[in-house]
Amino acid sequence: MNEREKRAISLKRAQELKDSIKDYSIKKSSIKTGLTNLDMIEENKRRIIKVFNVSEEEWNDWKWQLSNRITDVDKLSKILNLSKEEINQIEMIGKKFRWAISPYYASLMDPDDSSCPIRRQAVPSIEEMVETGEADPMAEEFTSPVEGITRRYPDRLIVKVTNQCAMYCRHCQRRRCIGQKDLGLPMDVLKKCVEYIRNEEDIRDVLITGGDALLISHKTLEWLLSELYEIPHVEIIRIGTRTPVTMPQRITKELCELLSKYPPIYLNTHFNHPMEITREAKKAADMLCSAGVVLGNQAVLLRGINDNVHVMKKLNQELLKIRIRPYYIFHPKEVIGTGHFKVKVQKGMEIMENLRGFTSGLAIPTYIINAPKGKGKTPILPNYILVWEEDKIKLRNWEGEVFYYPN
Ligand code: SF4
Repeated sequence: MNEREKRAISLKRAQELKDSIKDYSIKKSSIKTGLTNLDMIEENKRRIIKVFNVSEEEWNDWKWQLSNRITDVDKLSKILNLSKEEINQIEMIGKKFRWAISPYYASLMDPDDSSCPIRRQAVPSIEEMVETGEADPMAEEFTSPVEGITRRYPDRLIVKVTNQCAMYCRHCQRRRCIGQKDLGLPMDVLKKCVEYIRNEEDIRDVLITGGDALLISHKTLEWLLSELYEIPHVEIIRIGTRTPVTMPQRITKELCELLSKYPPIYLNTHFNHPMEITREAKKAADMLCSAGVVLGNQAVLLRGINDNVHVMKKLNQELLKIRIRPYYIFHPKEVIGTGHFKVKVQKGMEIMENLRGFTSGLAIPTYIINAPKGKGKTPILPNYILVWEEDKIKLRNWEGEVFYYPN
């Protein structure tokens, strides 16, 4: 075969590849992100700033954002166009399930569209009243060897340092922990957690989470990081926080200076939709990366928010652009009051099928079902092995082509 013939084959193949993502190429520009829908966000921000009568400086201060979370329907109705029915429903649901929205996160919402994916994650919905699911499907209470710690795996564990979050997400798996009060773990309990970790030499990976790990005070966080850092068998520290999404103002210079002192720190956050990727979120990610923090994302597959192959692909690609590596897509858990977000596992599989091969491997997280009763993360993968034989395996590739491979 001469060079010309080889080039002709290559060009034909390039066209086939291009055609294979044609539907996404057409759709992707219509999927709004927080970086392309700037006009709406700016307009919303101006309106909210007026409602609160605050300065830009206050708006950019995470403590202001936190202490001014929107928790009453009167204020919310000055920010979003709510019908009388919605107002009544929010009031009713608020008596059963707590809600709070940072003014920043409210600025990402479409004020006129109740199906806006940002709004659905934050504003209570009447569907929460449907009594399905359990309060604690992960049976976390049975995997807590000491108060504040959950240990489900041999070499790692989580410390839940607070029940507080910048926003109370409507799909939260730990909504049972969100009492009417925001509570940090008392210092004596935190000391016992550190003591437990110190005595357990198999623990090489500690995840600080909550609630939201970054809602404890600077002083407490510094104390905890320095204590863990001194334990020889703790090799890595992880932080679980949604603040880069719901309150990116929390990522301050002081916080980054603190985190940079205790490498390696892996910070996993929770973006669910491309609209959450804003200038502020990008700035927060840039600051964390510059501090040497390694960033990952744990999305939750949610009906009406990201249960769409194109939206999920766009989310993962946009995350990579701001240096956040897609890590997991969690199938939603059977948590009471969150049944309206449930999707079928087939939908998750369809999304995974449409990622592998069709976009960079870096943009492909692992799809996980959390086995009930705390039995652990179970990866769910499309099946690429069709038949096992003694000396060979029958496989299929991302395009569905079948081939044999020697075993
Ligand atoms: S930030 Fe995380 S822990 Fe807090 S309410 Fe949202 S999902 Fe739950």
